[in-house]
Amino acid sequence: MRKWIISLLVAIILAQLGFIFYRQSQLSNKTAPTTQQTEETSSLQLTETTKEPDSKPAKTEPNTKNWLSSEAEINFPILMYHSLSEGNSLRVPPAEFRQHMAWLKENDYYTLTPEEAYLVLTTNKKPAENIVWVTFDDGYLDNYEEGFPILKDLKMKATINSIIKKQKSDNGFTLEQAKEMSDSGLVSIQSHTYNHLELNQMTPAEQTEEMNSSKNFLDKNLKQDTNTLCYPVGRYDDTTIELSEKAGYKMAVTTEPGYASASDGLFALKRVRVSPGYDGAGFGNLMTSFAY
Ligand SMILES: [Zn+2]
Repeated sequence: MRKWIISLLVAIILAQLGFIFYRQSQLSNKTAPTTQQTEETSSLQLTETTKEPDSKPAKTEPNTKNWLSSEAEINFPILMYHSLSEGNSLRVPPAEFRQHMAWLKENDYYTLTPEEAYLVLTTNKKPAENIVWVTFDDGYLDNYEEGFPILKDLKMKATINSIIKKQKSDNGFTLEQAKEMSDSGLVSIQSHTYNHLELNQMTPAEQTEEMNSSKNFLDKNLKQDTNTLCYPVGRYDDTTIELSEKAGYKMAVTTEPGYASASDGLFALKRVRVSPGYDGAGFGNLMTSFAY
């Protein structure tokens, strides 16, 4: 009887051990293919982003027939925003951004797309008396969550200079959200390079890689011809300008203060930085303070 009980106990222990080994082997089987899958996906993405776009951009050229021509060289403000939130001198609260856009609307400002801005700069004609190009740098998630609804509400256009790497981070908008904004026709997504590194500190080959990989990614995924480069931290030199043009961009924006004009060069466009603390009237003063 005692022998029988002991062998029963041994059998139970063996069964349990067997179960534990079985579970462990199942778990390790599960993790193995997942890792492989992630690697496969990332290498696939890499080839996709470096491939040339295979379809023609869907976006159409603006019609300039009724635009106003000017004797004098046209200059206009390119506004520079970053995050729509609070906390430091680069963050503008969404409520203030709404006041700024409302001020522009009340004062009959026409908000330009990058394609329109390019035509203003190269033809010296404009779609309205008062024009402005609203830009955001970096590609924060709050641009999508806070800024996009305000732009839709007021039917105004803006451009987001996106760091491609940021589309995979927690405080950046995703590619899906970028597509949604781009498809609305109100928001254009342009390039702020892939990794946001200071271009003038890099070799020509490294700079070209940053410019090409980001442009190819946006061209392919948003079915567009990405025409604007925003220099990370505003850093560039003559080589950067030359390489940007070679990479297929038509314009580049800097962080130098002032109105944009063709005489500064299409790859050295100045901008008006918007800091927090401006209500509608204060913003109006800022807008016109650079006029000449
Ligand atoms: Zn930046």
